[in-house]
Amino acid sequence: MGIQSIVLVLSVLCLFSLVAAHSRCATKFGGEEHTIAFEKEMHQHMRQMKRASTGTPFQIRVAYIVVDYDTGAGTNIPDIRLDQQISQFNQAFSGALGGVDTYIRFTRNYTRRVTPSALGLKPLPYDSDYIDARLKPLTSYNPDLYLNFWVVPLEGLTLGYAVFPTFSGLDGLYSGSSPANRDGLVIDPTMVGSNTGANKANTVVSGITAVHEVGHYLGLRHIWGDGQGDENQYDTCGETDYCSDTPPANGPFYGCPATNGRSKTSCPGYPDAMITNYMDYSDDPCLNRFTQCQAGRMQVVLNKSPRRTGVYVGGFVSAASSLVSPLKFLLKLF
Ligand SMILES: [Zn+2]
Repeated sequence: MGIQSIVLVLSVLCLFSLVAAHSRCATKFGGEEHTIAFEKEMHQHMRQMKRASTGTPFQIRVAYIVVDYDTGAGTNIPDIRLDQQISQFNQAFSGALGGVDTYIRFTRNYTRRVTPSALGLKPLPYDSDYIDARLKPLTSYNPDLYLNFWVVPLEGLTLGYAVFPTFSGLDGLYSGSSPANRDGLVIDPTMVGSNTGANKANTVVSGITAVHEVGHYLGLRHIWGDGQGDENQYDTCGETDYCSDTPPANGPFYGCPATNGRSKTSCPGYPDAMITNYMDYSDDPCLNRFTQCQAGRMQVVLNKSPRRTGVYVGGFVSAASSLVSPLKFLLKLF
């Protein structure tokens, strides 16, 4: 998508808040308290998972809310692109493009088209504050049952953002930053669709931005661990995304490099940074994989987290042996 030429605002862990240039998304973490408690809960749940791999894939119900310009319904994005995005989700999360099969799939269950004037809202485009405060409460489907996916022209150069899972009501957990009617994804319509697999006739939109944001929605962190870093200094190599099968990385990677050579975001003494991972910032053509640990984290969230446990039918329990080991640095935290 040529993201290297784009400047976005990114908020990450409160402890390490920063404004970063060249960022893919504007997803906000809840804070360190939430993070540690979340990882502890996840670790315990992983240990409890059944050893046998049984069940059917998690089939997540997606409810689109498309905010059209006031020039007429459908002036924003056609339904076929919404379906192509679902196709992109299923290719990415099944491992068809690379990486593991996460056993997570998606269906389009509802599509609601709205216009600003009909809702009493100002003309498009919007920033995230306006979307969260005004648009979402008016248009959200039940977040206990559906993954809300707002397709909204965004101000500036932001491409999208998502809301992380929370454990509201449990001891020691941060619960104040994610009202139910704000839960879900927000993606600019220029990023919605797919140009892979059966959708190659669409030569422009790859749909990877939304894949990345669903990763956040299901509890994944950026592969460099969200510390402050860049491509030229080894200062985030001690941070973690809580998955040992994504090697430490020195900040986000930008661009789409040749396959030969070690990435400039790689950390000394570690395998090459996984710049092909959906949770990096590489250009879309270079992103093609989730790892086993990331799949496990997402499955745990779907099994455990409020407003995630009811958004799907089916459900797959992975082998515990493949899920427990990737929690690098966890013991250091506790
Ligand atoms: Zn992100």
